[in-house]
Amino acid sequence: MTAAQLEMPLARRALVGSVIDASTALLAEQQHDIVRFAMGAPSEDLMPLEGLDEAFARARHGRYDYGESEGDPRLREEILRLSNAAGVPTAPDRLLVTTGGMQGLDLAFKLCVDPGDLVIVEAPTYTNGNATALSYGAEVLGAPTDEHGLVVEELPGLVERAGRTPKAIYTIPNFQNPTGVTMSLERKRALVELAERWGCVIIEDDPYGMLRFGGSEIASLAEIAPGHPLVFQVRTFSKIIAPGLRVGWIDVDPAVRELAINAKQAMDTCTGVPAQNAVANFLEDGLLEPHLERLKPIYRERKEAMRRELASAFGDRVRVTDPDGGFFLWTTFTGDLAGIDTEDLFAGALAEGVAYIPGPAFTVDGSMRDALRLCFATSSPERIAEGVGRLKRAIDASLGMRSGGGAA
Ligand code: PMP
Repeated sequence: MTAAQLEMPLARRALVGSVIDASTALLAEQQHDIVRFAMGAPSEDLMPLEGLDEAFARARHGRYDYGESEGDPRLREEILRLSNAAGVPTAPDRLLVTTGGMQGLDLAFKLCVDPGDLVIVEAPTYTNGNATALSYGAEVLGAPTDEHGLVVEELPGLVERAGRTPKAIYTIPNFQNPTGVTMSLERKRALVELAERWGCVIIEDDPYGMLRFGGSEIASLAEIAPGHPLVFQVRTFSKIIAPGLRVGWIDVDPAVRELAINAKQAMDTCTGVPAQNAVANFLEDGLLEPHLERLKPIYRERKEAMRRELASAFGDRVRVTDPDGGFFLWTTFTGDLAGIDTEDLFAGALAEGVAYIPGPAFTVDGSMRDALRLCFATSSPERIAEGVGRLKRAIDASLGMRSGGGAA
């Protein structure tokens, strides 16, 4: 049903939903065993449950009061320490604690985008980022990506063809969602130069940057351009501690932060104090660093297992990215599998017992139908082998139907 068909006179602003979030509800309804490659979440067995329970139990005085909209002061202190240790010099007046990374993205687009403004996103990009830009009335333009991330060299041509400069460029430069690729240092530098030339904002969404398990470090945008007034950095603890906490932060110019605090007050004034309090305890206890060190070899093993299983199931009939961190592999069917429509395949795959996110969910124009996003982080190597086997059976069955024969 569209807004126009409703009795209630709603605002014209479209609220664009998320295929990814909808899949959580869909998966929860299923009664049979499903290998879950769909959601980008750590599995519960990899969450630091004991440390978190202990951190919640030690909640401080005032934990059920209204808190500061800026966020728990101890948590901001710890985020400052964490950022500085990671080589990203920041300052207390640049940091605002948010309700997950998603609120950071909402604040970024709310503050930067008026209806009709041009926003450049990566193709493919994170569905919810794209959806948020659209919800604020942005005209969204997808820019190409390759194994070194956003193809920054192509942006001037794209902008020339669009006939106007963008208001914002939304990028996930490190271990991107959905492809897992990382933008090269040269491109990051070039992106900052372009933003300066066009006077546009770079929304740097970086949930996965601390999850490098291979390759060598590439400085983040915030590191290359510390304190840059045009960079709006969005971070979260969802992928490095636990997503149910709903705790993240933004790192922005102090004047922009003041406006972000105003905007946040209109959303969830004072926010939920207990989770922020617990994350502050967790960080003060020094538990994040050892936790990350424990995760990295496990994620590396899972990525390698998934690449190996995909290669043995499909050989050169798939192209698969090879990330040095994060959660995702982007898989594109080629050769005789090139005609596969991953949206059409989804129901069969789910019935077979494996879930993924179809490629078009990550594009502005519903393209990339022959690609899909697979999250390797949630499943053990054994489950990954099982899930890829199920995917292969679903594909064989759909090929059988296409050629008019019985399902193989
Ligand atoms: N940005 C990206 C690229 C993400 O992958 C996610 C989570 N899937 C978010 C933002 C949102 O993070 P959070 O769950 O903390 O709201």
